[in-house]
Order: sequence, then structure tokens, then C-alpha cells
Amino acid sequence: MSYNIAIDGPAGAGKSTIAKQVAKNLDFIYVDTGAMYRAIALYLLRNHVEAEEDEKISHFAKSVNVELSYINGEQQVILNGENVSGFIRTEEVGKMASIAAKNKDVRIQLLDLQRNLAKKENVIMDGRDIGTHVLPDADLKIYLTASSGVRANRRYKELQNKGIECCIEEIERDIIARDKQDMERKIAPLKQAEDALLLDSSDMTIEEVVNKITVLFHENCK
Ligand code: C5P
Repeated sequence: MSYNIAIDGPAGAGKSTIAKQVAKNLDFIYVDTGAMYRAIALYLLRNHVEAEEDEKISHFAKSVNVELSYINGEQQVILNGENVSGFIRTEEVGKMASIAAKNKDVRIQLLDLQRNLAKKENVIMDGRDIGTHVLPDADLKIYLTASSGVRANRRYKELQNKGIECCIEEIERDIIARDKQDMERKIAPLKQAEDALLLDSSDMTIEEVVNKITVLFHENCK
């Protein structure tokens, strides 16, 4: 039997940074499901598929092969045999991922992969629909959020550290638009599961959130 922790929440709430750290503390495998949607988005972009071409998105989703592997504990995303982990973190891919994520065939393609991983291993999985849809019986569910201003500011600093010029107002607008698209889609929209614990990280450090989730796991699941 394996333990499963689900972390959902809007873009830029710190889910992946925090989930990675909790995975280390608990010796769990970290599964970043957003990276899988991003890999499909990259495939669509490489094949010049446009956002509104839903049938084409379905067609490509049915033929794509996405797998995960781990190098020194770091998740790698393999798209049709190619490690694309270095290509999926751009804003362009993020936006396309949110569009592709509305498509039924894209979601079907990834669901089994996500569920099978969680069946075999102790996982902490982050995304948008993990607690509500992918792992409804997860041992611990967290809905991690922060104000859009705080999330935009964190993203702004991250980009600045990488030497990328950016405008904070534009980042916040993009974040709000992506959340709206993820919350309003028909299939598996982003929402807090009824049995998920809400954590607002606006005024918390990464360390505080990591400790809180680690303690919650020990209190509730062991
Ligand atoms: O978390 P990340 O920004 O990498 O996710 C990219 C996009 O993938 C999200 O905006 C969302 O539309 C989609 N996604 C999803 N369900 C998940 C994970 C990500 O729909 N479980």
C-alpha cells in the first residue's frame, strides 16, 4: 500500500517548490503533473497547432507518448522518447498547456499515467485536479494558494534572477487569465476538493509551508 498526497492550486502558488521539498522530507516521489501538460503543449507548438484547433489537439493527443523518469531524484519528462524537461518552462508553453488541458483527449491520455504512478509509489503529486479527480482517495489533500499580487511578484523575481526582462503587471494579468481558464473549463477544473485543507502562502515562507504539510501528513496519515 502506498501513501498519496495531493497538492492543487493556481499558477505560481509555489506548489512545485514546496512539493519537492516535502517529498525529500518524507522520502516520497514528487510528481509534477503540470510538466506532463506542458510536454503535450510543446508537442502541439512544434507541430504548429493553434489554440482554437481542438480537433487537431485531440488528434495529436491520441498519438503522443509522455513518460516520466528520474535523474538524481529530479523528475524528467520524456516526450516521444526525447527528454524535453529543458524546453517546457517558458510562458508560451505554459499558456498552451492551459489551452491543451481543456481538451478531453489530452486529459484522458495523462490520467492513467498519473494514477498508475500513485498506485505503485508513495507520491506527492501537484496539479489542478489531483484532489478532485486524479486521486480522490489521497491520504492528504492540500489546496495551496496565495494572492495574485504575491504570486506575480514571486514570478517576477524568479525571471529577474534569470536575467529575463519582464513587466510585473503583465505577469499578474497572465496569471489571472490562466487561473480563470483553469477554473472555468468543463473537464476537471481547478477547484478545492471538499476534503482538502486550504493553505494560503501569501504571508508564509517556503519553509513554513513545507513544515506545515509535513506535520499535517504525520498527524493525519501515520
Ligand atoms: O503547473 P503548471 O503551470 O506547470 O501547469 C500548466 C498547465 O497545465 C496549467 O495551467 C493547467 O491548465 C494544466 N494542468 C492541468 N491539470 C493538472 C496540472 C496542470 O490542467 N493536474
